[in-house]
This record gives sequence, structure tokens and C-alpha cells, in this order.
Amino acid sequence: MIHLKKSDPKIYKIIKAEEKRQKEGIELIASENYVSPAVLETMGSVLTNKYSEGYPGKRYYGGNEIIDQAESLAITRAKKLFGAEHVNVQPLSGSPANLAVYMALLQPGDKVLGFSLDQGGHLSHGHPMNFSGKLYTIIPYFVDKKTEIIDMDEVEKIALKEKPKMILAGFSAYSKNMDWKRFKKIADKINALTFADIAHIAGLIAAKLIDSPIPYFDVVTTTTHKTLRGPRGGMIMCKEKFASAIDKAIFPGIQGGPHDHINAAKAVAFGEALKPSFKTYSAQVMKNAKALAGALQKRNYRIISGGTDNHLMLVDVFGSRGVTGKEAEKALEHVGISINKNMIPFDSRKPLDPSGIRLGTPAVTTRGAKEKHMETIADLIDKTLENKDNETKLKKIAKEVKTFSLQFPVPGIK
Ligand SMILES: *Cc1c(COP(=O)(O)O)cnc(C)c1O
Repeated sequence: MIHLKKSDPKIYKIIKAEEKRQKEGIELIASENYVSPAVLETMGSVLTNKYSEGYPGKRYYGGNEIIDQAESLAITRAKKLFGAEHVNVQPLSGSPANLAVYMALLQPGDKVLGFSLDQGGHLSHGHPMNFSGKLYTIIPYFVDKKTEIIDMDEVEKIALKEKPKMILAGFSAYSKNMDWKRFKKIADKINALTFADIAHIAGLIAAKLIDSPIPYFDVVTTTTHKTLRGPRGGMIMCKEKFASAIDKAIFPGIQGGPHDHINAAKAVAFGEALKPSFKTYSAQVMKNAKALAGALQKRNYRIISGGTDNHLMLVDVFGSRGVTGKEAEKALEHVGISINKNMIPFDSRKPLDPSGIRLGTPAVTTRGAKEKHMETIADLIDKTLENKDNETKLKKIAKEVKTFSLQFPVPGIK
């Protein structure tokens, strides 16, 4: 970054400090990952200079013959990766992708059945402060109180009673597999549209390690930067019959010019995900998640729903140790372990200081961590929570975290 260093030393310093933080810390935020140097290079390329409103072959600006190739490549690779009929790679992120789906398929006020936000759904699945909650009537479904797994019989009951126009299946904090087929079956009984949001699990689906909703669902959205390990962005996949409505909802519906440098980086990431090494990586993400959950259970932490079938887990730190989610987040941040506080199902505490924390293994796995390292991470987490008010002990743990982390390189950081 020789130019930046000269022209804007302040931002240069900030980037260097963030590189150091990323290198020295343990990244367990379930939605984060480290992109490859090739993805980083593409995002930093001159493709950012171009305006290309419209779609390949149908642009509102001249000079797009080269950009068209990049976007088409992203689309072709995404289709191959997910087996989708139609793909739109232009959504700027996951939330705008979801906004476009609602816009394309619904009228304001329409009823949508979605996973309760305090049990694992996303803001864009009906939070009252989000467009989804403001514009549409969201009816929530829940997990079973005992098993903490989505109760599909209950989903069916609510669906038959409420007759929503659309059923939304997807999550940000749920560690079990979705029964896509059953969702589709229920939707067909009431003629409802089916919408899956696979933002968190897209990489595991691309690697064919967990079930995909794409064969069954009308529309599927994803982010590209979580388990899929691409640039920060979104994508919509759908059946051919919704293609035109979806494309129009993105442009001119809610967006102007696409971010061509990001879309080209999506193509690079999809290319990486098509390689056998991505399957090995994703399988390791899941093995590590199981190992981490097991190591925490061994130390008497309660994992919501009894374990994990994907890359993430919710830990009931309040129930297990009397430490709140907020306290846990702060203590762990203090020693260099990044996690986020999270509501657990039927939480008796408030969203800003809930009972749980959410942990995920995509990022540490990208750095090369294996099952045996999950034992060390569980130990570091446990020690931190046990000593959360002991500054001397926390300082010592912070050193251990740094030593542990520095054995694993971060892609793109020297
Ligand atoms: C992360 C996430 C999104 C939103 O993604 P942004 O890129 O942050 O807008 C949408 N849906 C689900 C389920 C998510 O987990």
C-alpha cells in the first residue's frame, strides 16, 4: 500500500492496526471469514471505476463489453455451484437481496411466515425497525421449548391457520438443519411462495455437505461473505419464472449501478468454491464446530439444541456460568477472542444483555485450525469467563491467545 501510506497515513495506519488485530486474535464470529488474496486483489481493482446499470448485454452505459464478461462469469459459476435456474449477483449485500425478494413477490401488508427473530431469524425477516417488519405482516414460528429445534408440525399448524402469502426459511443463529422439503410441502398446501435465506450456510450447501433448498424453493438469497468466503455482498437465486420480477426489483427497483469490482470478486470466490479444496475446507469447518461444541460441553457449558450440525453454535453462558452474554463478549474481547452476544430461545434476558453467545468456526478454519485446536479455544474461553473480573489473569490469557493465533497465517496479511 505504498500510495496510501503516502497520501493518507491516517487510514493507512488504521488498516495496519486492523491487520494486526485480525492476525493476533481468535475470530469466532459465525458470520465472518477471511477472503483469499485473489478476492482481495479483485476488490481493489479498477473495476470499481465503471458504471453499468442494467444487466449483461442490456446496459444503460457504454463501455461495458468487458464488465459483461465478469458479471456473466459470476452468474455461470454461481449456477454451477448451486444448480440454480436463474442468478442475480448484483445485490449489494444480504439485506438488499432480501428487500428485492419482498418487493418482487409481495405487496405491502402481505403476510409472511418467518423464523422468530429472538430464536435465530435475521433482522430482515421482520424486525419492527427493519423494512421487513414495517412493510409486511410477519407471523413468527418457533423452536420447540424442549428440543430447541424448529417444530415443523407447529409451523404447519400456523401456516394452515394464517395462510401467509410467503413462507421464509432461514436463520442467523440456529445450529440444526432446515427441513426444506417439509417447508415446501406446507407451502404447497396453502399455495404460498417459498423463500429461503441461506446467508449463513451457503458455503456448506455449495460444498454439498448439507441439504440445499434450491431444488424446492421459489427464491433463495444469500450473502457471499460468510461461509461462502467471498467479498461482502449478496446474491439471489430463483426459478426461471421469477427471474424477470427479481431482476427488475434489484434494478431499477432498489439499486442503481452494480459494484462491478465486487461482482468480479464474487466470480473469483465462486471459482474457488468450485474446487475440491473448498469441500475439504467446509467439511473441516463442520468438524471444528462439532469439536468446539463438544469441548465446551465437556466443560459443562450448555449448547442450545444439544449440539451443532453446521458451522455455528449458541452457548447458554448465563445458564451455565451465571455470566451474561454482554459480560462474556466484553471479557472475551479483552483477551482477543471475537464472539457476539446472542439471544437464546425463550431467553429471560433482554437483547442487549442476553443469556447466550454465538460461536462459529469458518474463520479459524480458514486459518488452518483443526479439531485439536478447538480444545485449546474452549479452554481459553472457559478460563476467560471464569476469570472475567481478574485483570491479571485476563492479561495472561490475552498473551496465550496471541501466541496461539500467530501460529496460523491470515490469507492476504503478511
Ligand atoms: C447476515 C445475514 C443477512 C444480511 O446480510 P448483510 O450482508 O449483513 O446485509 C441476511 N440474512 C441472514 C439470514 C443473515 O444471516
